[in-house]
Amino acid sequence: MDAGAAGTPGEGTAVVIGGGISGLLAAREFARAGVRTTVLEAGEAWGGCVGSHAVAGLTLDSGAESFATRTAAVADLAAELGLAGEIVAPNPGGAWVQLPDGPRELPKTGVLGIPASPWDPEVRRSLGLLGSLRASVDAVLPASLGTAAGATSVSALVRRRMGRRVLDRLVAPVVGGVHSADPSALDVDMVAPGLRAGIRQHGSLAAAVAAQRRGAATAMAGPSGPAGTAGTAQAAGLQKAGSAVAGLRGGMHTLVAALLADLRQRGVTLLPRTPARSVRRTADGWRVATDQTTFDAGLLVVAVEGPAAVGLLEESLPELAGHRPDAGPDVSLVTLVVDLPALDAAPRGTGVLVAPQSPGVQAKALTHATAKWAWLAEQAGPGRHVLRLSYGRSAAPGAVTPRAMPESRGGGLATAPRSDDELFRAALADASALLAVPVGAGDVADWDVVRWAGALPFASLGHRQRVAAVRSICAADGTLAVVGGWLSGNGLAAIVADTPQQVRRLLP
Ligand SMILES: Cc1cc2nc3c(=O)[nH]c(=O)nc-3n(C[C@H](O)[C@H](O)[C@H](O)COP(=O)(O)OP(=O)(O)OC[C@H]3O[C@@H](n4cnc5c(N)ncnc54)[C@H](O)[C@@H]3O)c2cc1C
Repeated sequence: MDAGAAGTPGEGTAVVIGGGISGLLAAREFARAGVRTTVLEAGEAWGGCVGSHAVAGLTLDSGAESFATRTAAVADLAAELGLAGEIVAPNPGGAWVQLPDGPRELPKTGVLGIPASPWDPEVRRSLGLLGSLRASVDAVLPASLGTAAGATSVSALVRRRMGRRVLDRLVAPVVGGVHSADPSALDVDMVAPGLRAGIRQHGSLAAAVAAQRRGAATAMAGPSGPAGTAGTAQAAGLQKAGSAVAGLRGGMHTLVAALLADLRQRGVTLLPRTPARSVRRTADGWRVATDQTTFDAGLLVVAVEGPAAVGLLEESLPELAGHRPDAGPDVSLVTLVVDLPALDAAPRGTGVLVAPQSPGVQAKALTHATAKWAWLAEQAGPGRHVLRLSYGRSAAPGAVTPRAMPESRGGGLATAPRSDDELFRAALADASALLAVPVGAGDVADWDVVRWAGALPFASLGHRQRVAAVRSICAADGTLAVVGGWLSGNGLAAIVADTPQQVRRLLP
């Protein structure tokens, strides 16, 4: 036992379980308040899903590769960490969607694929005249349609207000690409927060989407973020240029590197390869047991994926047992670095999202990373391209393997090829089909497969209420917070905004 590693129990000490982005942010908040903090991370690497890997000599993101600019949260964090000058917009050309009847440019003005205007020429091309007509009915429907019920799925809301074609041809490919899930399984309030309130306020779904897109730039200059920082200004500029996401020159993993440097400088103890095995309430705080030792601290933050978080806490808080979330879908990413000057023209813009019914393609999305990010094209050099294909889509809650611990990454995919070789072959075939350029094994300079088992939190119907229940059970104690994408909503923007708030509640 080594209770000293986390300090003497009391409010001046904290243990954070999980070294993903949420755990690192929680540690930073504690350290800024003068709390002696120890972070326990099960794996070798820090940052969780904001990881990196080397392929053909390039250091690439192995998970998250951009952040939403709907708020200034990530841009401001980057600025605080000295990365304001590294915030970059993706190529404005935008992405494509692969539909059963062929590829189309994806409209650029939507939220989750839901269009702000059914008559926008790109939307009209994707939906056809009848599809756009049906979508425009949304404007005359009562604002209560789809907003009255306690919880609604993405598909129920979109189908009822804008019709089947918007759902199948625009929303399902985007939701599949971002959340690896079917829109009928996802709680709209988790994956598009504020959208239903926007319908009540602005009268229609299209108007709510337009307001969210417009509002982002205003929010960034307004009171929600520390207005005037270099990050805010950068992100506001990107918003004005119509970009819903941004990245960092060098990749999103550079944010983790900067965060780690900041934590080290603040004296935070960072312990990799140290999985927490159990958590117990003590008279004056919390005791966390690992394989080798125990850590005692007055304050505890659990920053691991949902099922694992509930698993760790339910011995101390048995009421949590009934609120265990569904595990996220397993996702495999295949990265191909290819020498193919035919791709210099970026035939499908920044990449392709695949509608679930599209025949002959197993991938759910392809990112043409060197077309999306100018800095990466420069690093890769002439004629060399980075393609990232993702596999694994969960059709319904419960259809996936839970990720109990990071060591278990590599779990099977119900709907996708399994072995690395199978994934590689599928990626070559899918890249050829999606880019309309033959991509053969001979063109590949290097490739890699990264598996994220259960890493995308599954925001199934009613998840928002589950989050509220979990948080109220944990808050009752006053010394415990639970953070991470499964609670704040998937994605860096939501986590970066939420985590400091949760930690501040524990501070005097
Ligand atoms: C392939 C992929 C692509 C993505 N792309 C984007 C994107 O472009 N933009 C975006 O905004 N978001 C993206 N996301 C989502 C985003 O990366 C996640 O929402 C976010 O990184 C989750 O952070 P987290 O801290 O909640 O959890 P995680 O990153 O899952 O971190 C949890 C950490 O806890 C550790 N852990 C688990 N159990 C224990 C234990 N018992 N003891 C100690 N440590 C433990 C894990 O090893 C892990 O490091 C992507 C996600 C994936 C998987």
